[in-house]
This record gives sequence, structure tokens and C-alpha cells, in this order.
Amino acid sequence: MRPEILNPLFAPVTSLSGVGPKQDKLFRYLLDRADTPRLADLLLHLPTGVIDRRARPKIRDAVPGTVVTLEVTVDRHRAPPPGRSRAPYMVYASDDTGDVVLTFFRAKPDFIAKLLPVGAKRYVSGTGQLYDGTLQIVHPDRIVDEEGFAKLPQIDPVYPLTEGLAIGSLRRAVAQALTKLPKLPEWISPEVLRRCSFPTLSEALHRVHIPDEPVDILPDGRFWSRLAYDELLAGQLALALVRAQLRRPAGTRNAGDGELRHKIIDALPYALTGSQQEAVAAIIEDLKQPVRMLRLLQGDVGSGKTVVALLAAAAVAEVGKQAALMAPTEILARQHAKTIAPLAARAGMRVAILTGREKGKERRDILQALESGEIQLLIGTHALIQDDVTYHDLALAIVDEQHRFGVRERLALTNKGDAVDVLVLSATPIPRTLVLTYFGDMDLSELREKPAGRQPIDTRAVSEQRLPEVIDGIGRALAAGKRVYWICPLVEESENVKLTDAEQRFESLRQRFGDQVGLVHGRMKGSDKDRVMAQFAAGEIGVLVATTVVEVGVDVPEASIMVIENAERFGLAQLHQLRGRIGRGSEASTCLLVYREPLGELSAARLKVIRETTDGFRIAEEDLKLRGEGDVLGTRQSGLPGYRIARSEVHAQLITQARDEALRILKENPKLQGESGEALRCLLYLYERDEAIPLLGAG
Ligand code: ADP
Ligand code: MG
Repeated sequence: MRPEILNPLFAPVTSLSGVGPKQDKLFRYLLDRADTPRLADLLLHLPTGVIDRRARPKIRDAVPGTVVTLEVTVDRHRAPPPGRSRAPYMVYASDDTGDVVLTFFRAKPDFIAKLLPVGAKRYVSGTGQLYDGTLQIVHPDRIVDEEGFAKLPQIDPVYPLTEGLAIGSLRRAVAQALTKLPKLPEWISPEVLRRCSFPTLSEALHRVHIPDEPVDILPDGRFWSRLAYDELLAGQLALALVRAQLRRPAGTRNAGDGELRHKIIDALPYALTGSQQEAVAAIIEDLKQPVRMLRLLQGDVGSGKTVVALLAAAAVAEVGKQAALMAPTEILARQHAKTIAPLAARAGMRVAILTGREKGKERRDILQALESGEIQLLIGTHALIQDDVTYHDLALAIVDEQHRFGVRERLALTNKGDAVDVLVLSATPIPRTLVLTYFGDMDLSELREKPAGRQPIDTRAVSEQRLPEVIDGIGRALAAGKRVYWICPLVEESENVKLTDAEQRFESLRQRFGDQVGLVHGRMKGSDKDRVMAQFAAGEIGVLVATTVVEVGVDVPEASIMVIENAERFGLAQLHQLRGRIGRGSEASTCLLVYREPLGELSAARLKVIRETTDGFRIAEEDLKLRGEGDVLGTRQSGLPGYRIARSEVHAQLITQARDEALRILKENPKLQGESGEALRCLLYLYERDEAIPLLGAG
């Protein structure tokens, strides 16, 4: 399927000379790949800076603290005295204006003797420093003879690295990869090329990796921008291709007469908010359209998305079809099931849950009831998209916390039925530009109103030194029958690391409060987690010590106190999500942000924002300002989520341009045929946005 012309770029980096198994591992880590990276990955790893070696002063004129390239004669060597191998190896050199000392730590004397023979002329490049009044260069970056100097790049790119990977080996690998770059067809239309004065792909890659001028590597320059545009175009084209499949045969309708919905609404112990009603109405309208729905429902934690999702599912069930609700974690899936089951039961709607935990006969029974159409709404995790899960007639896919799933998962779920409608739920308010980039052309519903009766949350920041007072306060709260979340951070994002913080806190609180304390963390078995959560929900335990597993979706309205330990280590969005676990009941709530001193400027700013507001949309904006958008979506690097090269602060205009271009392309050449279609297919494969290509059918 993949155009053959791309093969050289899909060769593994280990095919380069000098890249062995050890480097393979480092490159995987650096480039964030599960498998051996391809040459393309290496080439799309762009420099973040340069070393400018153009300054060629005499020794006397060298400015300390700057990179200089000196032409010197080697005078003498001074090896460390015997028995003091840790002392530096020094080489003295000079030109007609003065002396310079080249200093090496832990150097092999033979190697240095060969590199800098006494009496020879050498070019030495590195950062000069003054030491005892003499110019010194510690570990010069480059030492070359006349011949080497002729080839020495005047400007060396600097890349993000990972421990154990030397910049030299990365540069050599990139330089080799550049020589393998095939001549690819141009996928950008002549008009856009002209308008943006983009260089060719080859020129762009060469110039960012082998810059002529420092500005050549800037993200807003022509070279980087060309690559960013490619990446954005690939992304927008993939989204548009998916979207283009969203047509269904005329006459099919996915919403019924409202009978089930009315029963559910009657069973609700509350009235829907205005924005919930609007969202439901918009969804029902979509479900009746001859074009498939692709709608994002955004709303803060606790804004009541679940019931909206349920009503959408009910509409589908009214016409005898099925809905699936996929959540990223088991806890969240069970939480949804818990909220939904009693309401569905009152309406006579059949709901089941399927996660990794349902096994054997239980799982077989569920699958059978699903295939026969008996189950009307299936709630679960990734288990919903396993190969052997067959739906009778899946018409609506509801995906919670979408940004944790990729296009692949979304497609996998929608491929389980014909012309499936898609509703995405997100608790992280995402700024408009990001919605466009990440989700493509989606319709948007927002739940901005909080359900009635919510009490404000009193949020305070407390130094860790006052922890004993906090614990005393918890004692009083417990005596008064209150329920408390106690959140401890993980050292890393992954749930698979040591849990000492949470476990230690659990132990110490248990010594004080005994059986009233429970612990839940991501490494526990699902059933154990549920048991503890259930005990907390039932009030059998009063303090729940937890890692961030409670972050998403868990609902215990009686909990009215939250202590967040090491609050300075959490991001704004995460703090907001966590705090959203309280203030859900009728009782006034308190959130204590316990921080460790000294508090950095950024952490202080975050804690201030979180104290001042509970409006998720505002917090998202502040977060964007404080930390860059990568973190709003919880991704590691700053930059657009899912994008390596494009950055929304720099390439905002390119985003809209790429989107318009993608729509134009699909209008003119919906099957990506002919020469230009072939070029675009190359683009999609190059940026791994090819998931949608099979949807095009042959040719
Ligand atoms: P989200 O998924 O948006 O974080 P949920 O759907 O879990 O929020 O709802 C949070 C809580 O609010 C649930 O206990 C739910 O029963 C309740 N709830 C939802 N809508 C309303 C409403 N209109 N009025 C009062 N409570 C509501
Ligand atoms: Mg929820």
C-alpha cells in the first residue's frame, strides 16, 4: 500500500552506519517510538538551536563565554601526574597573539596525542573561558586539521538529546539520513507554494539540519514552516478523509420518538440545566440528519456530561439500534455505568459493561447479548473495540476523554457499525484553535452552566510545614462525618512507578485514624480499586488516599474535602480536574493545596489561579498562557498534541490554511487519484496519517 518511493525513509535507523542496538534504544527514547525509529523520524527531529562557529578571532581577541574557532599551533602536552588520573589533561597551544589551554577530563592520552600532535597546526572550536588570565577551552567541540577545516560546518545544529546520546552521533546519523532522502513528488499545490514561498521538502530538510545561517532553523522561518505545513496538511487531510466517510444512506435516522428519553428524564432526581437541554437538542438534531454526527461535548468536571450521553444513547435505542460508550480507564467506565444503570433501568433500557475484567462466561454472555441486539448501550474501555466484539447494529459511538485516544481507536469503534455517529466528551475545555487542529471540523456543544445547588469550593494553599494542623483538621472533619480525598502525586506520569508517597501517607494516616482510611492507586487490581472506591462512596471509610486515579470522572457527591499534597507538582488542568471531585453535593467544600517550600514562580502562579476560580474555561486559558498548550492536553512537549513540528503559537495561520486546502483537495479529488493524489498519499504515509487511506478503497 505504501508508495515504494518512500521505502528509503522507512528504513530503520539501525541501517545507518554507527547506529547499533545501543543507539537504537536511545533513539527510540529520544524520538518517542515503541519500535526502532525510521529515517523519517530522525529527519523530522528538528534542531532547537545552533552553535555558530563563524567567529574566527585571534586568541588575544577571543571573547570569553562565546564560541570561537581558533587557528593554533600545538606547543606542548601536560598529562595528569601519575596516580592522579582525575586531574585534567592539558594541551598548550598558541597563535602569534597569545596562548590558549585546551583542557580534557578523563581523556585517553593516546587519543589526544594523535588529535593534537606537538608542532602541528589545528583548528579548534569551542566556548572560550578565562582561567587564571589565560584563555581556556574545556573539551573543544571540534578539533580539525586544514583538510577537516575546509569541511567544518560554520553553523552546527543543536538537537534535543537524551542521556547517553552524544550530539555528534546524532548529527552524523542525521547527515547520513539526509543522503538517503529520495526525490519525492511535490504534494503542496503550486498556488500554496507560491503564496507561502515554501522551499521543496528536500531543501527544507537540508537547511534545517545543515543551516547556512542561524535563522534557517527558526520555527517561523521558511524551512521549518514548510515542514510544519506538511505535517498540518497531513493531519487535516486525514481528519477530512474520515469526515468524508460520514455520509449515510438517505432515510436512515438514528433518533426515535423520544419515548425512552422521556422516561429517563422523568426518572432524574433533578432538572436538566439549560445547556444540557441545548446539547441534547443539538445531538438529537444531528442524529436525524443524513450526514453523520461528529460532535464534541465540552464541559467542566461535574457539569453533567454523562446524562447527556445517556440521552443520546436512548435516542438511538428508540429506533432499535445500539450505542457504545468508551472511557479511557476502568474506574471511569464503571463510574459511568453506575450513574447510568439506575436511570436506564427505570426506562427499561438494557445497559451492560465490558472491560478487561469481564472474562470467561460472563464476557461470552455479554458478547452474545450484544450481537443479538439485546444490549442497547455498552459501556467500557478499550475492550469495546476488540476484534471479537460484534454489535448487532451500532449507531452511536460515544468516546469520553477523547484526547487519550487516537484516530485509530475512534475509527476502530466506528468501524463496528455502519455510518456510526460520533459524540466525543471532553472535560478539558480546549481552546478553539486546538479543537480545529486536533479534532478537525467538529461541531461543538459546551456545558458552561453548573448544575443547580452546587456549593462553592473554598480553596486554600497551605505550606507543608503546617501539615500537622491539616491532619488535626481532618480528624475533626472525620468526627463530623465528612469524607476526605487525600491526593498524592506520582513521581512520574505513569502509574507504573513507585508509589511510596501515597503508600507512606496511607500508613501514617492509618496510624492516626485506623480503619477509616483507604488507599487506591493505579497499580491495584481493578476489583480491589472498586472495592475501596465503593467503601468510600458508602461512607465505610472516611479518608481516601489516592494517586491521580481519581482524577477522571469518579463521583462521590458526599466527599467535601480534598487535600492535595505537593500541589506545586501538579499542572493547572490536573488540579482543576482533581478538585472537581468535590463540591458535587449539597455541602460546602474545602480544597487544601499543600505545597512544599520554596515555591517556584510558576507553581505560585498556578496555585493562585486555582484559588481564584473554578471556571474550567478560564483555567484552560490561564494554563495556556502559563505553560504553553502542550500541557493543556497533558502532552509532554510543548507544541500541538500529536504534532512534532507544528506549533500553534507560530503556525496558527498555517492551521487554517492546511484545513482549507484539505477540504479543497477532497472536493476536487475525493479518492486521491492521479499524480497529485499519489503525492498526497506519500504525505499521509510520511506523517503516519495513513489510517484513513484504506477508507478510500482501491485506487
Ligand atoms: P461530568 O461527567 O461532566 O464530569 P457527571 O455527568 O458525572 O459530570 O455529573 C456529575 C454529577 O452531577 C452527577 O452526580 C450527576 O448525577 C449530577 N448532575 C448532572 N446533571 C445535573 C443537573 N442538571 N442537576 C443536578 N445534578 C446533576
Ligand atoms: Mg464524567
